[in-house]
Amino acid sequence: MLKGLVISPGFALGRVHCLRHIQLENFEASTVDPTELENEIQRFRSALELSRAEINQLLELPQIKSSLEISNIFQAHLTLIDDPDLQKEVTQRIRTLSQDVQSVVSSVIKDYSNFFRNLPDPQFQGKAIDIMDVGKRILKNCSKRQTRQKDLHDTSEGIIVCAEDLTPSELVSLDPSRLLGIAIEQGTPTSHASILARSMGIPALIQVEGLMQKAQDWSFAILDGNAGQIILNPDSSLREKYSRELESYKERQRRIFEVLAEPSITRDNVRILLKANIGQPSDVDSVIKNYADGVGLYRTEFAYLTRRTFPTENELSDCYNSVISKLENRSVVIRTIDIGGDKISHLMGNSLERNPELGWRAVRMAMDCEEIFCTQLRAILKAAGNAANNQVSILFPMISNISELRKVKGLLFREQESMIHAGIPVPERIRIGIMIEIPSAALLAEKFAREVDFFSIGSNDLVQYTLAVDRTNSKVSHLYQPANPAVIKLISEVVRVGRANNIEVSLCGEMAGDSRYVILLLGLGIRELSMNAVLIPNVKQIIRNVSCAEIDQLIEPVLNLDTSEEIEAVLGKINRKIGIQ
Ligand code: PEP
Ligand code: MG
Repeated sequence: MLKGLVISPGFALGRVHCLRHIQLENFEASTVDPTELENEIQRFRSALELSRAEINQLLELPQIKSSLEISNIFQAHLTLIDDPDLQKEVTQRIRTLSQDVQSVVSSVIKDYSNFFRNLPDPQFQGKAIDIMDVGKRILKNCSKRQTRQKDLHDTSEGIIVCAEDLTPSELVSLDPSRLLGIAIEQGTPTSHASILARSMGIPALIQVEGLMQKAQDWSFAILDGNAGQIILNPDSSLREKYSRELESYKERQRRIFEVLAEPSITRDNVRILLKANIGQPSDVDSVIKNYADGVGLYRTEFAYLTRRTFPTENELSDCYNSVISKLENRSVVIRTIDIGGDKISHLMGNSLERNPELGWRAVRMAMDCEEIFCTQLRAILKAAGNAANNQVSILFPMISNISELRKVKGLLFREQESMIHAGIPVPERIRIGIMIEIPSAALLAEKFAREVDFFSIGSNDLVQYTLAVDRTNSKVSHLYQPANPAVIKLISEVVRVGRANNIEVSLCGEMAGDSRYVILLLGLGIRELSMNAVLIPNVKQIIRNVSCAEIDQLIEPVLNLDTSEEIEAVLGKINRKIGIQ
């Protein structure tokens, strides 16, 4: 049994199918006669043509066509194929090194991909995989060689694909009717293959250590996307147990999707808003598909993490407008840049801090880079000016004291005034909120309540800063306890202050979409949750099956417990009692 990180839940029972890559390193350079160099370049150009045609064909596949998110991945591949820098680099190297096209393409792709793979930010690591994906396609079309050892079409059985890593092209070229599960030895949660697996609803694990050494082709395996494990060669009793699990999981899923379009209301008629967290306009598809009540957190960092130049005011406002217009009247909370911590931007040059989580991050950085920050503020105001009244709110991350909030509000009002002066349509009043993700903000909630319209509890950071546990450090991950009594006390205080001052309070960290904590959060008085949109149906199903009055009674004793272990154990019991898996 091997452990991994769940990126898409569910169960799969089937035969292992190992996909082993032919490494790019395998292409030994060979010298080409100068008279042949132009022919090599022509082979490269033809390979680009062919690759372009193949991707255009993929874009016509129903499983790709039906999802904007997936089509975008392949559109990005087309952009890479047409990248003039890549073409220039390959042709130049063929000419100057007098080398064959395959070895040159292989080395250019390796260089490009290594550059991105070695950057600490997972978003960039995801780009490395895309480059590899496109590179292998071009290479295959230069060489007319197969890059995989075996074709999946050899079998008609359902399979669990095991691979060191998987590219989006490889994933979509697998027959979806036979693909039961995916286990990857490497991978990151934000990689495109992970996004794809999630949107295709295929149970998947990443970071399964030792997988490719232990997995044997055509042996039987069970992938448990709830416990985060893959069991290789299970005995018959485990197979029977998991067959039953799979059946009841399918039944639960069927019930969940039956109520997808129903309102998110508890049995005693309490409305719980379920909103979505997004990172880029293409995520809106999933927001709509999962009937989210709006966007509770638009993380706007992405536009700064993947670019070589700062985005302009118009580029940003176009981006925000596209989200707003697709959502029609649903509300959108746009968070200002939260770069820093684990989000490294090479534009900002923030990669070398000793304590990045406690360092130059979010509004701290934004205020030091006033021009960049104000460009974003103007873009948000502009987009809000085109939207319905109050549809757009602005959210400031990492606020740690009142003066900081007053300064960012001062900048916002200054920009707003100058835009009104210039005759640009902007709202006269925009709703302002802060992330409550630093204990000082939670403790001073009463004071903050006089200065803002809403609070958004960022439990990911609130846990990190309350318990002094780096959220990205696996060595201390056992101390990262969302149900620690200290965290619960802070959340409960923020909710109390919100109610007393008529301030909306939502929670938008990973806790919001985690079925283990839904009851706890409702018991603490939270009435708005924002999460990855794909998690909404499950949370909605829980909400429709519970009553707030009943939860209040069940949760009260939990609040007096001393340790997170005790709280988790009691929550587990309550969850099982009301049928939450
Ligand atoms: C949080 O801290 O809970 C949060 C939602 O923000 P991020 O994960 O972007 O820091
Ligand atoms: Mg945060």
